[in-house]
Amino acid sequence: MKSDSWKKFMYFIIVFLIMLIPVSGISAESERDWMTNEEFLVKLSEIVEASDGKVETDVAGYSTQGNEVMSVRVGTGDQVLLITGSIHGNEKSGGEALVEILEYLGTSDSFFAQSVRNEITIVAIPRYNVDGLEIPQRQNIFPWDEVVSAYPHLEGAAPAWYYNERNGGFDINRDFNADLNYEVAAEDLPGHTNDFGFFITKESQLLRDLYVELQDEFSHVEAYVDLHHMGTPVMNKTGEDVTIAIDYPPLGPDDSTKYVDYPLLDQDKSKRYALAAARGVKEFSDKEEPGVAQYIAFQERDFPGQARSAFALNGTATVLFEMPGQQPQFGYDQDLVDRVENGLWGIISHMADGSIDDLNGDDFLTEIPRYWTDNITDMRDVMVRFTEEDQFENDRDARLVDNHLAALEIYENQENSEKMVKHLNGFKVLLDNQRENGLIKQEAYNRLNSDANLLLERWENKLYHNTSFLFEGWDSNLID
Ligand SMILES: [Zn+2]
Repeated sequence: MKSDSWKKFMYFIIVFLIMLIPVSGISAESERDWMTNEEFLVKLSEIVEASDGKVETDVAGYSTQGNEVMSVRVGTGDQVLLITGSIHGNEKSGGEALVEILEYLGTSDSFFAQSVRNEITIVAIPRYNVDGLEIPQRQNIFPWDEVVSAYPHLEGAAPAWYYNERNGGFDINRDFNADLNYEVAAEDLPGHTNDFGFFITKESQLLRDLYVELQDEFSHVEAYVDLHHMGTPVMNKTGEDVTIAIDYPPLGPDDSTKYVDYPLLDQDKSKRYALAAARGVKEFSDKEEPGVAQYIAFQERDFPGQARSAFALNGTATVLFEMPGQQPQFGYDQDLVDRVENGLWGIISHMADGSIDDLNGDDFLTEIPRYWTDNITDMRDVMVRFTEEDQFENDRDARLVDNHLAALEIYENQENSEKMVKHLNGFKVLLDNQRENGLIKQEAYNRLNSDANLLLERWENKLYHNTSFLFEGWDSNLID
C-alpha cells in the first residue's frame, strides 16, 4: 500500500514536470511586476472561462473599505484545503502562485490534475487584504474612530494591541479567535500577543465565515495554508540565503497546558503538512533548493490570534509559508513564486494520493534546517559560520566561545536548569568582555547575546517554575 502510493506520487511528479516544459520559451519576465487587482480579476475571469465550470469564483465578503474579496474554488474532493495569500498587504507572492495553480487545475486534463480535482476541494482567497495591497501596507485600513462608530460599546476602550496607529489599520493575522462565535467586548481590550484576537475586522470575519461554511459543508476543514513574506535571513550553519521558510502553528511549547480545552489541536498533523510542503519545494523543482528552512518557531512562541492558530485549535492542519523580501522593496521574482507553488503542490499531491498521513511529523524538525536558535546546538552551528566569517579577532576567542557552548550543550542534554542558568550568565559575561575588548564583531555579538537571552529566559523559567515567557528579542523578525 505504502509503496503503491509512492509510485503514484512519483508518477504525479513526472507528469507534472512534463507540464512545466515551456511552450514558447520566450517571455518578458524581467519586465514583469506584481499583478494589480484589475489584472488579477481579468486573469481570474479568463481562468473561469477556460475551465468549463471546473473553477468557480465567489465574493467571500467585502473589505473594510468596501472592496470585493474574491474566493476561488476548484475540485470536488472530500478533503478541503483552504489557502490565503496576502493577509499582509505588503506580501504579494501568494496570489501569483495561487493563480498559476488555479489555471493549471482548471484547464489541465492530465492524470495529476484530474486526481487532485477528484480528491481535494481547494478554496483560495488569493488577494485577501485587498485594501492593504493597494498601498501596499501590512495592515488593513480601519482607523480606530471608525471602529468605535461600528462598535459603539468600545467607546473609551484601548485599541487592540495589534492596531497600528500610524497606518490606521489592523494586523488581520492577529484578529482571530479559536472561539469562532466570539464578539468583541470592551473589557477584553487591548489584549496581548499571547491572547486571542477579537474578530474586529471585516476581513477576519469573512475568512471565519468561509471556514464555518466549509465546516458545515464538509464536516471538517482538513488543511489551511497562509502565504507570507518576511525579511532576508541566512541559514545558521551555511550562511546561505533562506529561500522559503515553513512553519506549523505557534502555540507554545509541546508541554504547554494552555490549550488542553482544545482536544482537536493536532500539532503533529500540522508538522506532517509542513513537511509535505518543504519536500514539495525540492521535489517539484528542477533546482537544488538548499534554502528551504523552518520558520522561527522556538518552543515558547505562542500566537493564538493568528488565523492558522485559531483554525488549528479547531482541528485543521495549518501551515505557514514565509518568502524572503517584502513589497514594495522586492520586485517580482518568478523563482520565488515557483517555490510558493511547489510547496503547495507538495501538500496537494500528498493529500491527493493519501500519503500525507504516512509522513512522520518529527522529520520536519530534524530534516529541515533552521536559521534561528532553539537550543545550544543551533548556537554552535552559527559559531561554525561566524568563525569562518572571521567574526572574531583571533581563533582563540572563537574557541573560547565554542568551548563554553560545548559545556552548555552537555547541561542542556542533561536538562540541568541550575547549570544552564549559571553558565548562560557566564557566557554573557564572556561575550561582553570580548565586545569591550574589540575581540568580537557586532553581528556575532548581537546574535549570540540574543540567543543566550532567549535560552536564559527558558531555563530560568524551568528553574524557578515561572510560566510566563516574555522574550521580545526576536520581535522585529516575527512578522508572520
Ligand atoms: Zn506576513
